[in-house]
Order: sequence, then structure tokens, then C-alpha cells
Amino acid sequence: SPIPDYLAEALRSVQADHSGATADYIPELAHADPDRLAAALCTVDGHIYSAGDAAAEFSIQSISKPFVYALALADRGFDAVLEKVNVEPSGNAFNEMSVEPDTGRPLNPMINAGAIAMHSLVGPPGATPEQRVDRVADGLSAFAGRRLHVDEAVSRSEMSHAYRNRALANMLRAYDIIADDPLVAVAGYTRQCSLLVTAEDLAVMAGTLANRGVNPLTGRPVVSAAVVRQTLSVMATCGMYDGAGDWMTRVGVPAKSGVAGGLIGALPGQAGIATFSPRLDRHGNSVRGVNLFTRFTADMGMHVMEVP
Ligand code: GLN
Repeated sequence: SPIPDYLAEALRSVQADHSGATADYIPELAHADPDRLAAALCTVDGHIYSAGDAAAEFSIQSISKPFVYALALADRGFDAVLEKVNVEPSGNAFNEMSVEPDTGRPLNPMINAGAIAMHSLVGPPGATPEQRVDRVADGLSAFAGRRLHVDEAVSRSEMSHAYRNRALANMLRAYDIIADDPLVAVAGYTRQCSLLVTAEDLAVMAGTLANRGVNPLTGRPVVSAAVVRQTLSVMATCGMYDGAGDWMTRVGVPAKSGVAGGLIGALPGQAGIATFSPRLDRHGNSVRGVNLFTRFTADMGMHVMEVP
């Protein structure tokens, strides 16, 4: 297949770009090797192609959000989820204190406020905090087709500085959006964000979304097609935060970024794509990742609004 050579060539074309910076508000991430670079692609018929540091592990961070949203929809149903978190782009940064003024409902599940609310909704009603973390780890592992583990050092590092997320969780508790102790909710959400993945894992996870919720490697159904449609729609409108409109017009695929440098895109019916490069732009999106995806769109015509 020409795909691995193509991916390797694409990595070379962005390698010289050292702009951006690693996330500095999580000390463990600030010290990560900023030069690592990878790309991976997983087709809906289960072929994986990769180049660069595709087996290097890093924390999933916000890329966990669409998958936990999907799990919450599967566990609790659409009405219960929409009652707690809306689906409107916020136009704000990922950590913005943005909730609807009258209800306290976060604008969407891709910003931290909405993601903390979603974490506290997974599993059966009445699930304990431990059961929720297990449900998230099990569910994300099913999307990846491999058992994922928490990086305890990253989790501790983020928790020791998580004052902003704690403020968000307190606000959610005050509006009865979450029923948990706010600190417990943040601790669970932070463990969720600290799950270790590789670029190949992320490509399979995105590939599962591209494949109507069936993992292309294991053949196992993870969530329903209706849940996937909802999740991809929210990724398309809100996945890149205040860079979402620019992303959708230029790259044109449902996507999600994380502050450890991961980035995924899902092409419905075709493939999941993932990149990894830790230096971030001012929106918290990977600089070389955005450039790679811009190239992929130009080369492969993957913009969903473009007629092939
Ligand atoms: N765990 C990070 C946070 O809550 C995730 C942010 C991100 O990846 N954009 O701040």
C-alpha cells in the first residue's frame, strides 16, 4: 500500500515547524518531549497504517470527551443527556466558564463544563464514582480495541492545579447539573483525561465512529449508529472550540483535539485518522496536527461538504 509512504512524507513536510508550545498548566505535559510526531489511519474494513512515533503513549485529554458523550447517550438516552448539556458551539475556549445563564446547562459536551457533566452521567443511575471511572475506561478501551490505562502521574499533576475545573464543577453542582461532590467529579474527569493512548489507538477509536459504532478491528459493536450520528455532529460543530469554524471550512471533518497533542478526525463510512504532536496553538490544538489534517484534506479530498 502507498499509504505508509504517504503518511511518512506528510510527517516530513511538517517536521520543521516548531511553533506553538506544550500545555503549561499541567506540569507533566509541559515537560513532554515536544518533537514527537505521528500519524495513523484506520479504515472501516480494519486496515491500520501509521508513520512516525505511532506507538508512543500520551494522555488522551479532551479527545476522551466525544467518546464519553457517546457512552452517556448509550447509558442514559438522548433526553436525559440533553437535559444536562446542550449541543450549541460556544465560540469559547475549552476551559471557559460557559453555561446557559438561566439553567446552568453547559453549552456543549466538548468544553470542560459539559465534559465534567457527561463524566458524572455515564453508567447506570446511582453508579458510584469508581464505577463511573471504570465504565469510562472500559468504554474507551472498547472503542480502541485494547485495554487502556490511566497515567497516574499525569492525573496527579493535573489535579494539583485543577482550580479552574473545580470552579466549573462547583458551578455545575450549584445548578444541579451534577449530583456529585464537585471535587469527586473533577477527580473522575481528570482520570478520564489521563488515559494513555497511541496515535494508532486514536485512529481505531475514530475509525469506530466512522464505522457506525462498530470497532473495525474487533468487530465489536460499541455504540449505536444514532449515538454516532449525534457524537459526530457535535464534534463537527464544537470539537475544535473557538477554532471550530475555521477547522470545519478548511479541513471539513468531524474532529477532536487534546492538550497532550493528539488530534482525531472521522470520515463517516471511510476511516478514522489521528495525529500526535505536542506543541499547541492558542486554541489548544496541535499546530502540526492541524497542518497535517489540512494536507490530508487537500490530498485526499476528505472535506465532508465536497462532492467527490
Ligand atoms: N484535562 C484537560 C482539562 O480539563 C483537557 C483539556 C483539553 O485537552 N483541551 O483542562
